[in-house]
Amino acid sequence: MKYIIVTGGVMSGVGKGIIASSIGTLLKSCGIHVTSIKIDPYLNIDAGTFSPYEHGEVYVLDDGGEVDLDLGNYERFMDVTLHSVNNITTGKIYQEVINRERRGDYLGKTVQVIPHITDAIQDWVERVAKQPVSDDGVQPDVCIVELGGTIGDIESMPFVEAFRQFQFKVKKENLICAHVSFILQPGATGDDKTKPTQASVRELRGLGLTPDLIICRSTKPCNNVEQVKKKISTFCDVALKQVLFMHDLDSIYKVPLFMEKQGALEFLLDRLSLPINITFNQIFMKQWKKLSDKIDYSQKTIKIALVGKYTQLSDAYASVSRALTHAGANINHKVDITYVEAANLENDTKISNPVGYHEAWQKLCRSDGVIVPGGFGTRGVEGKIEACRWCRETRKPFLGICLGMQTAVLEFARNVLHIENAETTEINLNAKEPLIVEMPEHCPENKGGTMRLGKRTTIFKNNSSFSNIYKLYGRRQQIEERHRHRYEVNLDYVERVEQAGLKFIGVDTEGKRMEICELENHPYFVATQFHPEYLSRPLKPSPPFLGLMLASCGKLKSYLENECRLTPDESCSEDDSEDILMKIQDLIVTSSNEKKVNGNSNGFSNDLL
Ligand code: GLN
Repeated sequence: MKYIIVTGGVMSGVGKGIIASSIGTLLKSCGIHVTSIKIDPYLNIDAGTFSPYEHGEVYVLDDGGEVDLDLGNYERFMDVTLHSVNNITTGKIYQEVINRERRGDYLGKTVQVIPHITDAIQDWVERVAKQPVSDDGVQPDVCIVELGGTIGDIESMPFVEAFRQFQFKVKKENLICAHVSFILQPGATGDDKTKPTQASVRELRGLGLTPDLIICRSTKPCNNVEQVKKKISTFCDVALKQVLFMHDLDSIYKVPLFMEKQGALEFLLDRLSLPINITFNQIFMKQWKKLSDKIDYSQKTIKIALVGKYTQLSDAYASVSRALTHAGANINHKVDITYVEAANLENDTKISNPVGYHEAWQKLCRSDGVIVPGGFGTRGVEGKIEACRWCRETRKPFLGICLGMQTAVLEFARNVLHIENAETTEINLNAKEPLIVEMPEHCPENKGGTMRLGKRTTIFKNNSSFSNIYKLYGRRQQIEERHRHRYEVNLDYVERVEQAGLKFIGVDTEGKRMEICELENHPYFVATQFHPEYLSRPLKPSPPFLGLMLASCGKLKSYLENECRLTPDESCSEDDSEDILMKIQDLIVTSSNEKKVNGNSNGFSNDLL
């Protein structure tokens, strides 16, 4: 097992996660099985109780783990399925050690940060690194470990010390340390300042870790790359080829390509003695480049209004925004997301904040399609209901997710069924007409880990033949998507809602939980209780999002009539992406089978290398 430890210097929030994921993409492009572990040195056990304003969205895994959004980047960039153990927090480590202490495992010894906490960290990493994360069930060859925060933070010290020890345990030739730093570019002088990077590398070395790669983030490209490279190489005691640059790029999908161009892949393969499968690499990178080009050069743009509550921080809707990009790129369109503050759509705002009110409505009316994503609490719910009404009445393409489905049902009940008091018990516990109710499993005293979480099955009912979403999912009988909710549609109202035209076409395996609803006689009005955004991948867009994008550019009907393909005049003429994808799939299957049969640690027969 090879390890790549990714640390941060100078400051946080410079895209360490994207760089770490891109390293994963590059290795995966060689047919190497890669996994990843994200370390968040805070004391929370998991990210489940975070406000999206703190750290951006809470990302949900198949197993129901509520984790840092960086795990989403790993899953998307490396097309893997991670588990909640792939996200370590200080809280989790301490909990484990304290539980052991209570059990008497330490035989009366004093339990200390070193060695007990640092040992627990190393054991955790070694154990989790071996867990398969791809469909073929093969044990990974490389584990990328991203240490959150910045070198020097008090909270991350035990982790740094653990890795200092770990490099001897697993041997230095099996471990790389990549340090992501930042080059300051003060406007006045126009210089590229490397001093903070030098200081953070010195600090890293002082703690016992030597950087093998220094990745210099910056806002703009450096003025004189060679000169800056030389300076860092001299002062940080690394070879020139160990210094990489990464200025802000137009899209995150360019990051692996830009790293490859600078020789990152060769360095990694050489330093870790990993083999390269040239054929696989070429096909994979070609496909990745095509995706990145499509995002860049697509001429047409689809305007999507996202009606949410945390619109000040786009990271709060990171997966939704990525899922829209993936869907757009796959149909050769760019997506332009406008964030609309839900509360500003409400009638009361007309008087209290008329400018905000009219701006919000203008944004909504100017969009080609609308998405109402998940959310919690009271604020903005009435505004979301207004957005649903407007989409239903004006036949605007609409996708509601989780709370977005609940508001679509409430709107329908109020304005079509004329149940004026239709409410959710999330807002009014004593609702007279509780269309949306708490699930029995939910325990209100304790907010952590009490939701219906993770991957669950949805069965399409036999009323689905009219449905767009059923066709978009490939007319499958059942699908699996990830969940995160406490409330659900009240079964007592289902029949009335359906009779009036809002059909629940997907339900859980017991038929008791409404999972998907769709409006008849509307170009695209789909809402899901699950969160399809978590399973969207750059090369495999999520069907509900694809449907929204297609409907928003008027191509959904022809796409569905053409067996879920764009008609030739709508797709790029040289588009061979499906062929390429199939080749990749073939190669993956071949290589995994060979690995299983030959026991070859790299998974490839020699003629493929
Ligand atoms: N607040 C709603 C619930 O708990 C919706 C949750 C969500 O949108 N993720 O059911």
